[in-house]
Amino acid sequence: MRGPVTIAGAGLSGAVLARELADAGYDVTVYEARDHVAGNCYTERHAETGVLVHRYGPHIFHTDDAEVWDYVNRFGAFRPYAHRVWSKAGGTVFPMPISLATINQFFGSDMGPDAARDFIDETSEDIAAPHNFEEQALSMVGRALYEAFFEGYTRKQWGCAPRDLPAAILKRLPLRFSYDDGYFAHRFQGMPEEGYTPVIEAMLNHPRIAVRLSTPLNPGHDVDGHVFWSGAIDAYFYHSEGRLGYRTLDFENEVRAGDYQGCAVMNYADGAVPYTRITEHKHFAPWEAHEQTVITREMARACGPDDVPYYPIRLATEKAMLHRYIAAAKATRNVTFVGRLGTYRYLDMDVCVREAIDVAEKFINADLADQRLGAFIHAPIDPLTLPA
Ligand code: UDP
Repeated sequence: MRGPVTIAGAGLSGAVLARELADAGYDVTVYEARDHVAGNCYTERHAETGVLVHRYGPHIFHTDDAEVWDYVNRFGAFRPYAHRVWSKAGGTVFPMPISLATINQFFGSDMGPDAARDFIDETSEDIAAPHNFEEQALSMVGRALYEAFFEGYTRKQWGCAPRDLPAAILKRLPLRFSYDDGYFAHRFQGMPEEGYTPVIEAMLNHPRIAVRLSTPLNPGHDVDGHVFWSGAIDAYFYHSEGRLGYRTLDFENEVRAGDYQGCAVMNYADGAVPYTRITEHKHFAPWEAHEQTVITREMARACGPDDVPYYPIRLATEKAMLHRYIAAAKATRNVTFVGRLGTYRYLDMDVCVREAIDVAEKFINADLADQRLGAFIHAPIDPLTLPA
């Protein structure tokens, strides 16, 4: 049919979808409620210092998917960047994720890999099938490391007890019996030389794509052709079943002279410190030189109706509501829900790109076969592992 296509949201998912469909010959209109593209990976030059700032929190592109890596590199030069994180706990700074360096520093020991493995085996709790974040942590690293590095941070980040959270959240972090202090283990990792905004702009820069900034798409609004909705799934239905829970973030920026913390991200593990982490943006671009620096303290809290939603919470209360939204979504025609907000999942950037490429391909094939694409290609409920 090659009819017009409408996309709600000019973030990473929306931009990749728009580009893939435009390249396949569709006319695409992208509606974006904000006054800029790039969603939460938006980056901008700080007016006073010239430092490239990640306005909605730190985003690091990392993937094992060579096709996804090649894809993003088509739209901008990526420079080598290896993300490292430190964590301040009890007045001392440790490497994060937990590695041989963290273990030896924390316990004042000089264990080698095998001795450290035996030690952690002995000190960790014997929980065969961890049902929640706390059990996962206790069985992985034991109580002392859990309490020092995960408990306070996680309570601040998620606003609930770690035992109420799914184990899957902690499974994002490795435990290493080596001195490898890289945060991510993926083959490909980098930072766009000029930030993410020009990368997204380049994706959207196509004669068949029209972008309407500061123009939210009203769900159910009279649009021609298929709609891809990368906004929040509950917003599509005007929250008729209630509001799905998200954590939002508050950011406090400060300009300082020189180098504030010597690294891009310092986590604050102690529950008594109100922020979860401090980002020092210029360390994301080590190829640039700046005399001044911009630091951002990050605080998480429950997301209200006028806040930016960041992390889907996905607790038991959300599960029942999510099922109702999934049923409502499946009853729609010509709408497909995509991305982090559209499918209410905690997605890394590379997964957003992969899924958007796949959704576009499925849509094109369905269209060629004169079929309609359903509400979901990536179902929200699949990986929803809930605590027992
Ligand atoms: N986490 C923690 N302490 C840390 C780092 C992470 O307790 O120093 C926990 C926390 O619950 C967090 C989760 O591990 O939400 C996943 O961490 P990740 O770095 O993947 O979070 P993101 O950068 O996506 O916010």
